Amino acid sequence: MNALILWLEDQFRQQRDINGCLVMSTLPLPMFLLFLLMPWVARTDAAWSTIYNQELLPFTQIVLVLVLLAQVAIGVISWRNRDCGEDLPVLSLFTVVTVFAGVITLCMGYGYKDSPLMLMCMGMLILTRVLFRPAVYKAVFVGMAALFVCSEIAFWTDAFPYAPLLQTPIFVGDQLTSWWAFWLRVVYCMIAIPLCALFFMLFHIMEREKQMLEQLVRTDSLTGLANRREFMQRFQVELHRHARKQKPLCLLLIDVDHFKQVNDSHGHPAGDRVLEGLGRILLIGLRRNIDIAGRFGGEEFVVLLPETALPQAKAVAEHLARRFEAEEFLAAQTPFNVTLSAGLVQISGTDPDLALRVADENLYAAKQAGRNRVVATVMTREERRPAVVCE
Ligand code: GH3
Ligand code: MG
Ligand code: MG
Repeated sequence: MNALILWLEDQFRQQRDINGCLVMSTLPLPMFLLFLLMPWVARTDAAWSTIYNQELLPFTQIVLVLVLLAQVAIGVISWRNRDCGEDLPVLSLFTVVTVFAGVITLCMGYGYKDSPLMLMCMGMLILTRVLFRPAVYKAVFVGMAALFVCSEIAFWTDAFPYAPLLQTPIFVGDQLTSWWAFWLRVVYCMIAIPLCALFFMLFHIMEREKQMLEQLVRTDSLTGLANRREFMQRFQVELHRHARKQKPLCLLLIDVDHFKQVNDSHGHPAGDRVLEGLGRILLIGLRRNIDIAGRFGGEEFVVLLPETALPQAKAVAEHLARRFEAEEFLAAQTPFNVTLSAGLVQISGTDPDLALRVADENLYAAKQAGRNRVVATVMTREERRPAVVCE
């Protein structure tokens, strides 16, 4: 069941014209068929058959047969070309127009206000919006709105009778005839059930797309680590937790050594693979759901180690550095290795910018000392003061 929902979601999301034509041409078929057959079944009972205006009925039936034939033809064509990825604006428009021709014929004939046909129009409009690109929907929406306004004017000015297909009363006293009451329920169910399924599907798609967007906003696309914004948010949370619980908290700032040279010698794609590799090493080498790793931008990474004192954090940083140094990358069959430098600090206070500044100073010291190393310090009271005091 879940697999079916996911498949349908994908079909809806892709918004391929051929999918739209296939669904749109098959979904309303039972409804059209029902309206085509209903008056014939009613003939079996004299009281029931008097409900229909037998003179006008053939006209509606002819339109419905034409619509049905067109829909079946579109369905067959769409099924045969179901792998077609091209835009099919003419077929899309034709599909939608024939369906709405059938719906509007029914609306005009049976009176849209007092029947479930209004629900059907709504369903079709929603389905068109989901299945086809906005241009098709806009054309249909404008056409439908114009037709309703025209029909409303025609009814009010007596230019067109309301529900001309129904003659003598479908009401007996204030009760619907049993025939009409039964079909009304059937039609309501036939429209309401697919409509509910459609809404269910749409909410599913919306929920999944929301999750995907949230994920995109939070993560760095190359490495899958937290991006700068996400890292800073989580950093704030951890700083407050650290202040409350008085547990040590360490911050590690990592920068790949001579990365420009890596790009220049092996190409940008190879450079990207190095960054991905470092991202992987961080994901594997850190505690899941405790440590927080992010890519700050370029070849600069950042790691937060909660409830970790400086000696343990230094051991972790050294381990990551050795692991990265040992990783072999390939560019045009040529293996190469890359190193990293890191600045580590055990944080004191709740100022994230200050902690980052101290970690950056340590990173700079590591670069100055010859790279491929970790420089670690505990933040002192002295550093808690802002670097520049504005008078
Ligand atoms: P140092 O050891 O002093 O850090 O030297 P470096 O060459 O690593 O430092 P620098 O800041 O001069 O170079 C960083 C390079 O990283 C420059 C930039 O083109 C490259 N870079 C930034 N983002 C990306 C990326 O997403 N992919 C790739 N392949 N390269 C990137
Ligand atoms: Mg850099
Ligand atoms: Mg660098």
